Amino acid sequence: MITIQQNIHDVKKQIASAAEHCGRSPKEVSLLAVSKTQSVSAIKKAINAGQYAFGENYVQEAIDKIAYFAHHSKLEWHFIGLLQSNKSRLVAEYFTWCHTVDSLKIAQRLSHQRPGNMPALNILIQINISGEKSKSGISLNELPQLAENIYTLPNLQLRGLMAIPAADNDYPRQLAIFQQMHQAFLLLKENYPQVDTLSLGMTHDMTAAIHAGSTLVRIGTAIFGSRGKT
Ligand SMILES: *Cc1c(COP(=O)(O)O)cnc(C)c1O
Repeated sequence: MITIQQNIHDVKKQIASAAEHCGRSPKEVSLLAVSKTQSVSAIKKAINAGQYAFGENYVQEAIDKIAYFAHHSKLEWHFIGLLQSNKSRLVAEYFTWCHTVDSLKIAQRLSHQRPGNMPALNILIQINISGEKSKSGISLNELPQLAENIYTLPNLQLRGLMAIPAADNDYPRQLAIFQQMHQAFLLLKENYPQVDTLSLGMTHDMTAAIHAGSTLVRIGTAIFGSRGKT
């Protein structure tokens, strides 16, 4: 059962080669292992392969895993799922990062609910870059105002942007969409120096994302295998 370990090795090689291909250092792109629906034993295998950052989509499932691995001080948990306001407290109490903030209301709740003895919660603003009705996220027009408001909240640290573009297997189109995100990211960075994270790219489009400037790819399938239909 070396598969997960082998997959992590392969994904890291793919990240490094995509980065080198466009003159970036592989160190600029970190790997978030998306472990939604995966068992603690699968996560253990990833940890044994040196993977410490995990992304989860479902709050209750995630906090069971976070509690299970609580003794493990190196782990970093990222919430990447749809954030409902009645679940914001658990996200504020258990996670290190939240990638899916798309309203001032939810940001205010997270800041208010973040325990005082924990470091600020790292926040990415989710952009609905393909303008899909069914997807969360704000438009780029709304970004300056939301960023300014989040910046003033005491228990949050604005770190950057995240997007999930519409599925598309055409490389030039993937790249063009990701480049719009990169432009917005550079602009945000000028105004907020602590901004350093652009969360872009999944199993099927990580190469385009890295070429466009992603600093963090969220990879599930290529590490853990297919989740099947959920
Ligand atoms: C499930 C998920 C991923 C991982 O997708 P794969 O295609 O399995 O790599 C990445 N980001 C988000 C927001 C997800 O929900």
